[in-house]
Amino acid sequence: MRRITILGSTGSVGESTIDLVNRNRDAYRVVALTAHSNWEKLALQAKALQPEMVALADVAGYGALKAALAGTGITVSAGDEAVCDAARMDADWVMAAIVGAAGLKPTLAAVTRGATVALANKECLVSAGDVFMAAVQRHKATLLPVDSEHNAIFQVFDFDQHAQVTRIILTASGGPFRTMSFADMRGVTPAQAVAHPNWSMGAKISVDSATMMNKGLEVIEAHHLFRMPASRIEVVVHPQSVIHSMVEYADGSVLAQLGTPDMRTPIAYTLGWPSRLQAPAARLDFARLGALTFEAPDLQRFPALKLAQDALVAGGAAPTILNAANEVAVARFLAGDIGFLEIAAIVDHTLARLAQPALTTLDDILAVDEEARAVAGAAKNLSVAAE
Ligand code: NAD
Ligand code: MG
Repeated sequence: MRRITILGSTGSVGESTIDLVNRNRDAYRVVALTAHSNWEKLALQAKALQPEMVALADVAGYGALKAALAGTGITVSAGDEAVCDAARMDADWVMAAIVGAAGLKPTLAAVTRGATVALANKECLVSAGDVFMAAVQRHKATLLPVDSEHNAIFQVFDFDQHAQVTRIILTASGGPFRTMSFADMRGVTPAQAVAHPNWSMGAKISVDSATMMNKGLEVIEAHHLFRMPASRIEVVVHPQSVIHSMVEYADGSVLAQLGTPDMRTPIAYTLGWPSRLQAPAARLDFARLGALTFEAPDLQRFPALKLAQDALVAGGAAPTILNAANEVAVARFLAGDIGFLEIAAIVDHTLARLAQPALTTLDDILAVDEEARAVAGAAKNLSVAAE
């Protein structure tokens, strides 16, 4: 029996992970589950899976969760530190599926134990990539990428011939506004932005897909996971989301991983690794698909992608600032406080406002993250240049 923990079990990736665990109940023993504030859903999951402990980040729900799990023998705790404690429990495999930089400390807690970490939480690599990867090395943790593009690359990347990899090519769906004019994007609502054409995901990553900041975060994520310079990481828009990404070698060969857009396939890859599990995703029907198409990303209409690519080249604190500002801007957009086009404008403004020194410790990173959140939170009436 493999002992597993799911950080962010109530989210989209968390629920898909539980779906797979339910299909393989005799292979996995659940050690801990964590959530932000949805104690009702966490209690239901805990009753079904009988973990040793559950942790709720938001202490407000502690009493209700404790009452709901009374008599089950499950340890109930709350607060940010409790989520880290859950990550420290001795699970062999940890799904890191908390959204945002909030996932950084708990994910590092699992890494520090030398666990096998299935990494969905891309923001922790964007915010703290060098420090995070150094911890992975130091503690001999195993990192398995869950993000569909990085999982695809991981499946076809020959780590023994790193020098022969000439490019990695990240595919992007283009999101719900792929064909919309910049002027029309000004008025889009949160409901329109979260309605992704191919994938069903949490609100934050859905908005990131609509701005294409998600692909920018993924470029930075790929840089850290595969030790590739920005110049060798290319983005191509592929609206069908069938090819999940590609690796090009020195001899011109390009290897790709394909599948229908269902996160249970990459999650199953990490859950079964190094073996393969049965997963329920619909199978590709190539004759019905007919055609796969590709186009260059439009950096004028999707400036967030360019901001992220530039932040990777700039290095130092730039990706940390970019990530924090984006988290705040997306939350403000979802709350109806700012317009869609202001998301990238706020990220740009925050990057321009703050110094970008090299960051070598977690404390440095957390301090810059906090500073960037303050600037992005206070930004008002930014003019959004026409395309
Ligand atoms: P989600 O919003 O559906 O779920 C987020 C989870 O994190 C929830 O369980 C929530 O309770 C928890 N959480 C939120 N804030 C927290 C906090 N401050 N402290 C502790 N826990 C907190 O998000 P999601 O779509 O499942 O995405 C999770 C991560 O996986 C993100 O980093 C996202 O970029 C990445 N990812 C998601 C998908 C997808 O298909 N959903 C695909 C690729 C990568
Ligand atoms: Mg992705």
